[in-house]
Amino acid sequence: MSNKEEILEKLVKGELKLHEIESYTDNIQAAIEIRREFAEEIAGSSLPHLSQYSLDLTEAMKRNIENPMGTVQIPVGLAGPLQLNGQHAQGAYYVPLATSEGALVASINRGCSITREVGGANVRIIDDKMTRAPVIRAESVIEALKIKEWIERHFIELKEAAESTTRHGRLLKIDPIIVVGRYIYPRFTFTTGDSMGMNMVTIATDKAMDILTRETGAHVLALSGNFCVDKKPSALNLIEGRGKTVTADIIIPREIVEIKLKTTPESIMEVNIAKNLVGSAIAGSMGFNAQYANMIAAIFLATGQDAAHVVEGSLGITTAEVKDGDLHFSVTLPDLPLATIGGGTRLETAQECLNILGVVGSGKVNKFAEIVAGTVLAGELSLMGALAAGHLARAHKDLGRG
Ligand code: NAP
Repeated sequence: MSNKEEILEKLVKGELKLHEIESYTDNIQAAIEIRREFAEEIAGSSLPHLSQYSLDLTEAMKRNIENPMGTVQIPVGLAGPLQLNGQHAQGAYYVPLATSEGALVASINRGCSITREVGGANVRIIDDKMTRAPVIRAESVIEALKIKEWIERHFIELKEAAESTTRHGRLLKIDPIIVVGRYIYPRFTFTTGDSMGMNMVTIATDKAMDILTRETGAHVLALSGNFCVDKKPSALNLIEGRGKTVTADIIIPREIVEIKLKTTPESIMEVNIAKNLVGSAIAGSMGFNAQYANMIAAIFLATGQDAAHVVEGSLGITTAEVKDGDLHFSVTLPDLPLATIGGGTRLETAQECLNILGVVGSGKVNKFAEIVAGTVLAGELSLMGALAAGHLARAHKDLGRG
């Protein structure tokens, strides 16, 4: 019996755990295959597609994945060119989109064509930060307020400690600091350069907490107290922002709305009010928009962003107004965590997709943010046009059902 067969047998018998395979073989590729063969035993069938890939999983294992056994494949379409008049993104961009939702790429592509017709969409970054908020427990309400005041008085020391852990992270503020009973929630707010920054700010905040616990005797219950707010829908992030806060707008002459979108500025305005504003309000939704998550998810998957942040990218408000007979249309994304360095952006396919956009590496994240916001505008505009024209079901029937 070969070493490989022995390991597989041990796995099947439950004598070996999934993460222990590498300690039985020096050959990491063999370990990946054994894990997949074990999964084939569970599935009762071969898994030929999970096993087809070109990513270097031994490299990915260092930072991106544990217990690897293969990769999934998601179709990637290309939309564009998207014409932008940003501060960092000026010109025409082709956008890679990973999705299995038929009609999505076509819809974004249609929106892109409108950006070209009108000479480009405007995009601006309003704010840029990443946050981590621990929860600290004091002995009493009175002590909790003392801890809050201590944090406010010792900002410089906390900042020095936090920044000693990183070359690119900068602590901007610790604000707000919320007290609930004897619990304290200080929201540490950083800039993180071209990385999304969650590892960076977690490590930095941990260092600052060392000083706080040493000097005050307070107890850090958890390094994340859910007031960050990471990977959850949140009114705090909608109002205060997190990641990049980006807004984009476009003015579309009535004639182009009629020819390209087969509807009128008035119809789009009314659908926006009734659906994105009133409909979302009665649902208690924080996504006052039609489909930001669709564009965000497709770009995030293509470019190696943290997929769980789609929940944050789905927040935001779309406006549509008739202005001098034409359509003024805007999207605002308050909570867009993005990276061109670190995390999953180092995976080979992510690098290739970032390369298509011209945003690989240092000094590129702001350009990337503007392209993402522009793509959201293109997709949002196209869907709102389809809804106003009554074409939504037809497009999905044709493109999503073959
Ligand atoms: P990271 O890959 O852990 O760190 C980014 C690295 O890039 C840092 O070592 C940084 O060095 C370096 N760097 C080089 N050039 C840079 C530049 N121009 N700008 C910024 N950094 C530069 O990534 P991260 O962004 O901190 O964290 C993202 C990862 O965290 C994702 O994989 C995500 O899934 C995961 N995540 C973690 C948590 C958590 O609680 N820890 C929560 C959610 C997600 P310096 O630090 O020395 O500047």
